[in-house]
Amino acid sequence: MSNSWNERLRLIRFRRKRERIRFRDELRIIPRWLIWICVIGWLISIAIACPINYYNVQHHGDYFPAPDMANQPLLASLALAGVITAGVLVLSCLLFILGYVYRDAKRRGMNPALWTLLVLLLSGPYVFIGLIVYLLIRDPLPYACPQCHATVSARFNFCPNCKCNLRPACPHCQHEIADTDKFCPYCAAELTPSKPQIPPATADSATNGEERKS
Ligand SMILES: [Zn+2]
Ligand SMILES: [Zn+2]
Repeated sequence: MSNSWNERLRLIRFRRKRERIRFRDELRIIPRWLIWICVIGWLISIAIACPINYYNVQHHGDYFPAPDMANQPLLASLALAGVITAGVLVLSCLLFILGYVYRDAKRRGMNPALWTLLVLLLSGPYVFIGLIVYLLIRDPLPYACPQCHATVSARFNFCPNCKCNLRPACPHCQHEIADTDKFCPYCAAELTPSKPQIPPATADSATNGEERKS
């Protein structure tokens, strides 16, 4: 197992533990202007296509859906509007997914253009596969340092602002633990809930070196 693979799995676990995803909040990430473009595009295409179709039905030109609605221009317009709506909906869904991936990748500090391109390449019938792959392996959101509240990446081991240990480990077995754990889930060692998770005596151990001046 390579280190980057282990790191990727750690980030996935980290994100699962921390992020409570609500669909409504996720929808807000889709850019407003993109939604408006889709709505306006839908209205314009109906406003252009339906009158032309209506005119052609009455004057026996080419019209949709030919040729069984020769004397029913209103019904033909309704059918055309339905087909346009369905087409615009499918296209909008794809655009919204791309817009979401771009914005979400950006706020997670990932490469937004690369990820949007990847999901776009998997578009068509596979667009949801692209989206699911993205949702599974995306990085966790940056979060506030528990000590100084500076924004830190989930990849950091220590806070660059205050040197706080962002990956507390059990002083007994060195497994990574959550800051809220009272006992180590791996070896049952008792963990002190107070700030220094590592007693000063073991602070010089290779993985958990930590100094506090408070
Ligand atoms: Zn900090
Ligand atoms: Zn332990």
